[in-house]
Amino acid sequence: MELSLPLPVAYVLGRLEEKGYAAYAVGGCIRDRLLNREPNDWDIACSALPQEISAVFSGKARILPTGLQHGTVTLLLEGWQIEATTFRIDGPYTGHRRPEQVSFTDDIEKDLARRDFTINAMAYSPLRGFADPFGGQEDLKRGRLRCVGAPVQRFTEDALRILRAVRFLAQLGFSPEERTRRAIFSERELLRAVSAERLTAETGKLLCALNAEKVLREYREVLAVFLPEIERAEGESWECILRAIGRLPACLPLRLAALISFAAGGEDMKENARCADSALRRLHYDNRTRETVDFLIENREAPVLETALSVRRWLCRAGEERFFSLLSLRRAFSLEDMAALEALDEAERLARDAIRQGMPLSPGELAVGGSDLLCLGVLAGPQVGQLLRLLHERVIEGSCENSREALLHLLEREGWLQSD
Ligand code: ATP
Ligand code: MG
Repeated sequence: MELSLPLPVAYVLGRLEEKGYAAYAVGGCIRDRLLNREPNDWDIACSALPQEISAVFSGKARILPTGLQHGTVTLLLEGWQIEATTFRIDGPYTGHRRPEQVSFTDDIEKDLARRDFTINAMAYSPLRGFADPFGGQEDLKRGRLRCVGAPVQRFTEDALRILRAVRFLAQLGFSPEERTRRAIFSERELLRAVSAERLTAETGKLLCALNAEKVLREYREVLAVFLPEIERAEGESWECILRAIGRLPACLPLRLAALISFAAGGEDMKENARCADSALRRLHYDNRTRETVDFLIENREAPVLETALSVRRWLCRAGEERFFSLLSLRRAFSLEDMAALEALDEAERLARDAIRQGMPLSPGELAVGGSDLLCLGVLAGPQVGQLLRLLHERVIEGSCENSREALLHLLEREGWLQSD
């Protein structure tokens, strides 16, 4: 069978072969091409050493020495980013993490043997065909996830593989081979040894995957090792969370907010948001994601929808993106509640109307600014900001139009401007 490769990838393989090295596209990109999925990234494995790879592409691509001691060089060409890594054997694993040392080899099969799952341990080159020593193609056909080698040993070497397994089940909708499934559960505590960044990256992919709902239902206790907050949602609440995740768009802050929306275990959403925040800090999430998730959880049940004015106030407070995310989250949790769903539709309509009519979402979007006020004789100081906020509030209420004349007229009428 032949696989079509993107031109820059085929070029890199061809050029390495021309210079006398063996070279393959390898790992996730081959798995995804065989499944007709778009690969996330393209990796190349070759017999050339990092300095040799750099020499082969000198003047042909931009070369970044990504991980020289691990044998990886990044090639940038025609807008593509391709990682080329020397065939390697992992050295001893310590602390259930990535090996400190690696050694190089000229045997592709040894390189494939260090990889986590059979479906990730395949290589392909237009010149040499497939290298698939562990039956990855067969497992792909059968929809089966299976470790390369003994699962307990492979998970003990590098515990992140446990979470990667769950992530692939969620992305691909596969079933685990029985020994692999048992080891996912029996070794799960080892995930404690894995760095926050690696856990967070895999968790994000898992949560946004097509089969996230089903897989979280089955593997909750695996994630709970590093995210115990998810076990505080009991019985019906956990089921609501799962269904909400299944219904939400594949957007990380939204699904994350659903997942840990009962982080404190009770009905007090402020407390749940506080607990969710400390979980996200522990896992080193970036500030933006954390703030969005906190906002979503804290306001999941707040009364935002009663009147056109309250919708507009919320829209300004939250900002456009967060406001619509909040509506999505609430919708996902309001499955059978027709009245709630109708209220959400109405809130969405009102918010879209306000945006279409050009409602300023913050004082900064008013037709007058701080410098206008100063020119008109308002004294510099905190009162400038206060006045702008007051004007903004009047515009949102609909009692003043957002035009220079109307705003200045209002200030004059209410005695805010000094007259000469
Ligand atoms: P994605 O689609 O998210 O890129 P991937 O399987 O390609 O998934 P990468 O992190 O890009 O994951 O890794 C590329 C390849 O490196 C994998 O397909 C696998 O062969 C190997 N690999 C990655 N992480 C591990 C690991 N922890 N243990 C063993 N092999 C790994
Ligand atoms: Mg990849």
